[in-house]
Amino acid sequence: MARIIQKFGGTSVGDAERIRNVARRVVDTHRKGNEVVVVVSAMGKSTDDLIRLADDVSNGDYPREMDMLLTAGERISMALLAMAIQDRGVPAMSLTGSQAGILTTSEHGSAEILDIRGDRVRAGLTDGKVVIVAGFQGVDPVGREVTTLGRGGSDATAVALAAALDGDVCEIFTDVDGVFTADPRLVPHATKLDEISFEEMLELSSSGAGVLMARSVEFGRRYKIPIHVRSSFHDGNGTWVKEETMEEAIIRGVAHDASEAKLTVHGVPDQPGVAAAIFESLAEAGVNVDMIVQNISIEGVTDISFTVPKAQLATAVSIASQAVKEIGAAGFDVSENIAKVSIVGAGMTSERGIAARMFRILAEHGINIEMISTSPIRISCVVRGDDVNAAVRSLHDGFELADEPQEEKV
Ligand code: ASP
Ligand code: MG
Repeated sequence: MARIIQKFGGTSVGDAERIRNVARRVVDTHRKGNEVVVVVSAMGKSTDDLIRLADDVSNGDYPREMDMLLTAGERISMALLAMAIQDRGVPAMSLTGSQAGILTTSEHGSAEILDIRGDRVRAGLTDGKVVIVAGFQGVDPVGREVTTLGRGGSDATAVALAAALDGDVCEIFTDVDGVFTADPRLVPHATKLDEISFEEMLELSSSGAGVLMARSVEFGRRYKIPIHVRSSFHDGNGTWVKEETMEEAIIRGVAHDASEAKLTVHGVPDQPGVAAAIFESLAEAGVNVDMIVQNISIEGVTDISFTVPKAQLATAVSIASQAVKEIGAAGFDVSENIAKVSIVGAGMTSERGIAARMFRILAEHGINIEMISTSPIRISCVVRGDDVNAAVRSLHDGFELADEPQEEKV
């Protein structure tokens, strides 16, 4: 007998029939003698719909009420799933994040899980029930307010619950077959990975691979919970995210991210404290700066470019224009037509010339690199937004990531 945590995303519970299908899978797992805890997302695109509805009703910024609103989405799917499971003769019970004892920090919309009490979950399991927990939500124990964990947060709920309950595996059911060598929508011959290490998955997730939320991978790594990313539509094996992988790949996959914009501050006086001043203001405003490049200094001035989420661009622009005045820079410009493409693989630590090969492949496809950043197992380049599809495809094929060699296009 194993203790299994299963998470079903929005598409998997998108309508009544799909909810019944999920119930069938959960019941199968339960009937095999396992203890099953299920985490669900809101049905289909209902979180987006609720956000749109709030925009239609009001122009204001009401983080507390947004969380009250958005947590309703997961409440609907959890209750419906509990009904469908009981229909099949298996006892089941749904719990909100707060009822499940998921304690978080107080930031509405981006709370972090601090602790999971899980008493009611354990009690339900002891009673032989399937316990269904609403994903993406918790409660701030100090203010006793309901919180959400940020978009895609149900993955984090699932892996954190698996850790807190000492689960044997966390299964993330999704609308794709697993983790691919690149986004299959861009690269149709991208290959499903059988396994990937936590470190590599973390880099892919933070570089734009949408299949797993980075924070959930972090939980998995910290508490050594293997994560099985698999399809909710069939029984086939998906991708195992775990500590050690059998084979070490030089490059495991290519990720891309078009959600950032680039700001360049021109004519920045090349003196100590100037960069600190700009980035302190951005940090104070909660802007997530990703890449930073400072050019060489000519005649005492330099340019600093950095990327921020497009969603935070307005804030970043107002800070940049303020900073330009304060530090006596020449001005700044903004480019929204950018995207980041990254290659990730633990094997690159022991292989030379990977960066050079990446740059050569991009060059051969006429793609200009605007910024570069690296980690020990990742190389990322910012390119023009219009070039990103070609960049992903050429890197995927240039590093021969497909299972089957691709025929040259003539
Ligand atoms: N329903 C939430 C969202 O759409 C959480 C999730 O799906 O994980 O972001
Ligand atoms: Mg989701």
